[in-house]
Amino acid sequence: MELIEGKKVAAEMKKEIAEEANSIKASGGKTPHLAAVLVGHDGASETYVAHKVKACEEVGFKSTLVRFEEDVTEEELLAKVDELNNDKDLDGFIVQLPLPDHISEQKVIEAIRPSKDVDGFHPVNVGRMVIGLPAFVSATPAGIMILLERYKINTSGQNCVIVGRSNIVGRPLSILLSQKTPTANATVTVCHSRTKNLNEVCANADILIAALGSPEFLTADMVGEGAVVIDVGTTRVKSDKTKSGWKLKGDVKFDEVSPKCSYITPVPGGVGPMTIVSLLKNTLLASKKEIYR
Ligand code: NAP
Repeated sequence: MELIEGKKVAAEMKKEIAEEANSIKASGGKTPHLAAVLVGHDGASETYVAHKVKACEEVGFKSTLVRFEEDVTEEELLAKVDELNNDKDLDGFIVQLPLPDHISEQKVIEAIRPSKDVDGFHPVNVGRMVIGLPAFVSATPAGIMILLERYKINTSGQNCVIVGRSNIVGRPLSILLSQKTPTANATVTVCHSRTKNLNEVCANADILIAALGSPEFLTADMVGEGAVVIDVGTTRVKSDKTKSGWKLKGDVKFDEVSPKCSYITPVPGGVGPMTIVSLLKNTLLASKKEIYR
């Protein structure tokens, strides 16, 4: 079994991104600039946004954090999105999800100008990705594709099973893996809460991706010998062993599944760091106007 060390790959990629940002600045270009909009004080969202801001600092990007209280109106938030769309210094921005119930996430996503949508959630970017045009690709699926590539894991013709069909992970990943490209070409099955014989479907996978958000859901009997297992799950569970009082749990029962695998991602340190670095990569692409000119 080989561990897929997302943390290590992300560190290498950050170095590459920092070098490129530096050379852009050295040749008179502007510093890539990412903004994050955070509504309310949800602990997980605070942590994710703090990691994104810190990552920007590490690679020499400019970052701006825009905060709103939980009771911000949809109108006020949309006005801010409009302002950020028109801010010439800003290359890209994200609105951290989830948003409070009184705000339509879809409305907010669709208000972001596709050329600044570095999360890749806008229907224009999703649509472009689906038909293989250059697009901002949602950070987690993009990060997983990079991991598979960097570890030289063959996907061509492989039986790939994804558990979870969300718009931000399972669904876009299924499209990327099935694309007619040298680093994809997989045969993909997308599973969800209505899937019949889930254990059997999973056990037949060459590459198994767990993205359902149910801690330690995937057990050894659901994994075939020699499978590649990618654990996307990150659920905060209470812990009296950490200072924060919680720890992250993946969707895979690591101890019993890992001995059966050829490759597996740990939680933490697997997919998570790749999500952040993919966002930095998208911001760099936005600053270079490589997707939208
Ligand atoms: P989501 O929107 O809640 O979607 C969960 C998906 O899993 C749904 O399609 C659901 O099926 C399916 N599902 C739930 N229980 C199931 C079961 N018992 N059997 C089969 N399918 C089941 O989740 P998400 O936003 O994609 O996130 C999934 C996990 O990844 C979460 O732990 C999240 O925190 C984590 N995540 C991590 C990163 C990272 O950077 N590491 C990034 C994003 C998300 P239905 O569609 O039928 O409801």
